Amino acid sequence: MLVLVINCGSSSLKYQLLEMTTETLMAKGLVERIGNEGSVINHETIGKEKYVLTTPMEDHNAAIGHVMDAITHPEHGAIKELSEIKAVGHRVVHAGEKYANSIIINDDVIAALEECAELAPLHNPPNLAGVRACERLMPGVPNVGVFDTAFHQTMRPEAYLYAIPYEMYEKHRIRKYGFHGTSHKYMAIEAAEMLNIDVNDLKLITCHLGNGASVSAIKHGRSVETSMGFTPLEGLVMGTRCGDLDPSIVTLLAEKLGVGLDKVTDILNKESGVLGISGISSDFRDLEEAMEEGNKRAELALKIFAHRVRFYIGAYIAEMNGVDAIVFTGGIGENDAYMREVICANMGNLGIKLDKEKNKVRGKQTMLSADDSKVKIMLIPANEELVIARETDELVKKA
Ligand code: ADP
Repeated sequence: MLVLVINCGSSSLKYQLLEMTTETLMAKGLVERIGNEGSVINHETIGKEKYVLTTPMEDHNAAIGHVMDAITHPEHGAIKELSEIKAVGHRVVHAGEKYANSIIINDDVIAALEECAELAPLHNPPNLAGVRACERLMPGVPNVGVFDTAFHQTMRPEAYLYAIPYEMYEKHRIRKYGFHGTSHKYMAIEAAEMLNIDVNDLKLITCHLGNGASVSAIKHGRSVETSMGFTPLEGLVMGTRCGDLDPSIVTLLAEKLGVGLDKVTDILNKESGVLGISGISSDFRDLEEAMEEGNKRAELALKIFAHRVRFYIGAYIAEMNGVDAIVFTGGIGENDAYMREVICANMGNLGIKLDKEKNKVRGKQTMLSADDSKVKIMLIPANEELVIARETDELVKKA
């Protein structure tokens, strides 16, 4: 069965076409600058030459139209007819408390997700625009929603509630939701397979370290804690996001800078994190290069990043009363051997020992821990699209 996976951002769209009997990637691509001048689609059918088309695309509907043209292109395409695609899986960021699992989208689901849009104003509207475009352009083909928040719905109230008046939760749904759920779930499934142990018998700490970064504690296959919160701003220090912060700083900053709270939110989301500390870049490659050249603030930014990850690892070991494996993924988790080494340093008393030689690796599923490390350390490259395709395939087959 062929499944199309779509991940719509506000002005971009990533897609993959997968054949699910063998889980084979057939084509993939990226549309950028949707609704802006210079809209462009970069398409690649596996085994064929890449295809780039710059053409106006005023909205997601137009973008998905071009995706479909590219997939069925006589020369560059992967299939002859759109009707070969049996289902579309959509990444949807926020499902609030409504859905703890993926679901086939109908009008009721769309209404529920529209209600969640105020919780993710930047993400849910484009995600839903993608769903509507597919409904229009591929009538009768089921659309499945796979939610970033769903995997974390297993957290208990003591983990997800903030200590603010309870009515704020009841009235405004203010609680920890957590994100990157699809990625954390994928790491858990793959780690269990690699270890050849049932996921229900494992305690895992999964670290998704990219521009956006989060850590999760996964006990017996269920997310029990995660570092992102009501929004993806909480938790780890990120490329440009501050992560955990004393909330009084927000009002103080507004006062000191003489700006509104919107501007402060902007600073905390876009001008903070390792970019804010270093004053150089949000990219860890730039920071490591600068550190090697003696830049102290770049070094400090990297140290602060690692410190916060270690802080969460420690907390999650306490929360689960131990850990069997720590898993790394995301642009930094997969590629940055230096950062993995700093994060895992000096934790021998907790049974965590990285093998520095094995750690000299990038983007490959592999074991990084020393043979005598009680806790396994693993690298598992992210593949959120495959999880979305699997869940779409399963749900549509069952329906
Ligand atoms: P996103 O959250 O945008 O999906 P990614 O998971 O793609 O982010 O991660 C992007 C980040 O990964 C870059 O900003 C960079 O800091 C880091 N990164 C990528 N490759 C390397 C590398 N070789 N060494 C160190 N850091 C890297």
